[in-house]
Amino acid sequence: MYKKFFLLFLIAAHPSFSLTPSEALNNLIDGNRRYAEDKPLHADHSADRRNSLVQGQAPFATIVSCSDSRVTPEIIFDQGTGDTFVVRVAGNVVGPIELDSIDYSTKVLGSGLVLVLGHESCGAVKAVMEKNTADIEAVAALIQPALKKPTNLEMAVKANVKHIVAQLKKSPILKRLIDEKKLECIGAYYKIESGSVEILK
Ligand SMILES: [Zn+2]
Repeated sequence: MYKKFFLLFLIAAHPSFSLTPSEALNNLIDGNRRYAEDKPLHADHSADRRNSLVQGQAPFATIVSCSDSRVTPEIIFDQGTGDTFVVRVAGNVVGPIELDSIDYSTKVLGSGLVLVLGHESCGAVKAVMEKNTADIEAVAALIQPALKKPTNLEMAVKANVKHIVAQLKKSPILKRLIDEKKLECIGAYYKIESGSVEILK
């Protein structure tokens, strides 16, 4: 038991940030371009790759996305097994449980980018806009503060993403890594029809 904790400490103390934040972002942008142009590389999901990851993982990016079945990060960014650490929940919201996962992927695993991905036609955000939230109260409570006066669903989804990014940047572990230039946290918007991802500035 002691040995296990010591090993975890060592990993936590010295995460290997395999890519810089801008390299990680470029990887995702390139992968999405391939996907949107219908020219995916069918990134590595082989048995060899799987076996090479048995002893550990070092995903270069963390993606926080909606659970929507049309928004599968590994596919729309054309990434292989072990490349991305994905947190998926309706409305791509971040509460304490999601934040624990994001903190782990960055501080311990050395992911150099956190990308919060909203998307076209998001049912969770639409439900909050229409005040139809009886079945998604916990998710709605996290989306509601972001929606001041959006005039349409796309604006509301983007406002929700930007709100989450701002919150994440203030969280202690991410803030420290960002200050040390090891991490970036940005928002993005996925267009289902074109398959392309827009980076939100
Ligand atoms: Zn959604």
